[in-house]
Amino acid sequence: MTFEYAPAPESRAIVDIKPSYGLFVNGEFVDGTGTAFKTINPATEEVLAEVAEASEADVDEAVKAARRAYTRVWSKMSGAERAKYLYRIARIIQERGRELAVLESIDNGKPIKESRDVDIPVVAAHFFYYAGWADKLEHSGYGSTPLGVAGQVIPWNFPLLMLAWKIAPALACGNTVVLKPAETTPLTALLFAEICQQADLPPGVVNIVTGAGETGRAIVSHPDVDKVAFTGSTEVGKAIARAVAGTDKKVTLELGGKAANIVFDDAPIDQAVEGIVDGIFFNQGHVCCAGSRLLVQESVADELLERLKRRMSTLRMGDPLDKNTDIGAINSGEQLMRIRELSEVGDAEGAERWEVACDLPTKGFWFPPTLFTGVSQAHRIAREEIFGPVLSVLTFRTPSEAIEKANNTPFGLSAGVWTDKGSRILSMANRLRAGVVWANTFNKFDPTSPFGGYKESGYGREGGRHGLEAYLKGADI
Ligand code: NAD
Repeated sequence: MTFEYAPAPESRAIVDIKPSYGLFVNGEFVDGTGTAFKTINPATEEVLAEVAEASEADVDEAVKAARRAYTRVWSKMSGAERAKYLYRIARIIQERGRELAVLESIDNGKPIKESRDVDIPVVAAHFFYYAGWADKLEHSGYGSTPLGVAGQVIPWNFPLLMLAWKIAPALACGNTVVLKPAETTPLTALLFAEICQQADLPPGVVNIVTGAGETGRAIVSHPDVDKVAFTGSTEVGKAIARAVAGTDKKVTLELGGKAANIVFDDAPIDQAVEGIVDGIFFNQGHVCCAGSRLLVQESVADELLERLKRRMSTLRMGDPLDKNTDIGAINSGEQLMRIRELSEVGDAEGAERWEVACDLPTKGFWFPPTLFTGVSQAHRIAREEIFGPVLSVLTFRTPSEAIEKANNTPFGLSAGVWTDKGSRILSMANRLRAGVVWANTFNKFDPTSPFGGYKESGYGREGGRHGLEAYLKGADI
């Protein structure tokens, strides 16, 4: 039985959204030379602000500022001094955590309980963690020499968290950065720019340029950028790999996924159901490592699906700022269209759709939690990343069949295994071609743990000691 909750909206009075924003270059907000675009609240379609679209000339200014800061200040500073700035940034993020969480939910559409309890605490943890490395790089195994200027381009699903994954290790290693947030979620990156000012970070160490694909292209192809770090779709990742081929830029790519969440018949079923729900409905399924393919052992499939549907029916969808909300808005009209299209392909290919019966708000972008049964490996909904709250269910009989199906994908970012047997967890983890394998849990993130993919999910690792490799020249052996 579901109890009705009284609405418990978080106040948005804590955030001060300006009508328009410029670019953050050399420690100051400046007008761009290009045009501007609007960022909207995806839950209401309300225009939040106008944001500058950085031109090639603006990107060039930002790269010059980053180069100056690199040669004159940041690369000369001791690791212990750099760490002080990173600790300061981490503490300000904690102090301003509520403001950041509310702004993230307004611009992205994600529920406040996720931005408040997951995104922002993990962002602060990343800065604390890499601050700790800044004066210990000679023990990293990758040397202690920075690369120079890093050009970083990130997506919209975890706007501030992806920024932290990029900026914290880069700065700890002594690099300076030019970062572009996604065009639908620029606001927390711009607030982060204010935090850099508040922390007295030397001008030019962090530069934030807003814009869409063209701005991203200008960053990754700029001749004075030494390192390209990209998180986003596999399609754009491939274009970037082509653009930097033949240059001496160092590159890391964190791309898409189609993770298998594998449930054996000895798994604790209610716990597995929670993990499946978390795996695919956390952040509206806008998660590169989402458990979007459920592989369930045939003997428990009926029981598991019945319990899963019952659990899905209790998910609360609606106002992202309401503290009771489990499922917020889809980030953009464009993404909603893609989710609808691929779901219709699922219908046309003969899979059976089941969705939670709920009234969707009339304004904004919404898609109900959905699952497809009767899915075969050839179906597009089993092969392509939907990047929304849509689960494809397949069954298996033996561990080998589960492995074969799980690995039958061009991606290789993450996987989950649910079983009572520790030996089975280890044997499955060894055979799964995925960068991260969760056992009896899902979607857990920690700054000490490396994250990254195989195959079309990209290359390079972010997080942990391994994450330092992407920003250092390497050990002299
Ligand atoms: P996207 O590739 O469309 O955009 C990502 C970023 O790249 C945006 O900032 C965009 O403006 C920019 N961009 C677009 N074209 C560009 C170009 N030609 N050159 C340079 N930059 C360009 O992806 P998206 O729709 O924003 O994000 C969703 C994708 O991101 C999903 O596929 C998801 O799996 C992936 N993702 C991966 C990870 C990971 O760690 N592996 C994490 C989060 C998201």
